[in-house]
Amino acid sequence: MRHLEENRVLDWIASRPLFFRYMLFPPSVVASSSSSLEGTYPSCSSFSSQKFLSGMGISKPDDLQSLASLVFKQLKKRYPDAHCELDFSSPMELLFATILSAQCTDVRVNLVTKVMFARYKKLNDYLKLTQKQLEEIIHSTGFYRNKAENILKAARMIKEQFDGEVPKSMEELVLLPGVGRKTANVVLGNGFNLPGLPVDTHVIRLSNRIGLTTQQDPVKIESELCALIPPKEWARFSLTLIFHGRQICKARKPECGKCPVARSCNYYNLQAPL
Ligand code: SF4
Repeated sequence: MRHLEENRVLDWIASRPLFFRYMLFPPSVVASSSSSLEGTYPSCSSFSSQKFLSGMGISKPDDLQSLASLVFKQLKKRYPDAHCELDFSSPMELLFATILSAQCTDVRVNLVTKVMFARYKKLNDYLKLTQKQLEEIIHSTGFYRNKAENILKAARMIKEQFDGEVPKSMEELVLLPGVGRKTANVVLGNGFNLPGLPVDTHVIRLSNRIGLTTQQDPVKIESELCALIPPKEWARFSLTLIFHGRQICKARKPECGKCPVARSCNYYNLQAPL
């Protein structure tokens, strides 16, 4: 009787999509046994783990990388035009627009920057501005006092410490007032076409739901995702997740029925009926 029950469980596991099976037997478990995999899996008398794993095509601990590649491929297909939705024509404009985008929609920021960038085109234009003048323009983006102060201080610092050019490295960018890793990665990835993987609320939510990470801390998530995707694709990977998060994998109610990565998604597979 026990044997029958175990077989039913194994049949059910084997019929699950690859990633769900992978979650049951993560790579750390696989890696923990170099010579024999026997005994490292849930006890089950009729269960040969080595045979079971090879039958699933799971043989080494980099399968998370395969999952990331598969998901990215599907998302690129769905969102071939995924792009930064902030309007800008230079790294400086993107930097200022990204500072303004904190707690504000891209649509609102674009309305504000349309006026701001038309009026102030060069770095020196910002150096002549008073905080009050800038506050009036960016008022509707919220937190306008902080944002105005940060933009003006950043402009001054770029002029004095970086020869008037927005710096091109993470280490230097995060020295600018109002610039954290997310903003720096937006500027690197979208302004300079350099490796940069911005982790925003969509990237946090989707990477967890899909099962690419179990972290909630953006810096840890960035580091884990960067290990799974080639550097030249970091920015695009983040953008496709953001597009998917806005259009289908919404925070309150993901529309899994419309999702091209459902079969690979941990969240979806854990919800699927037995
Ligand atoms: S299957 Fe559902 S939860 Fe998973 S990525 Fe798609 S929409 Fe999000």
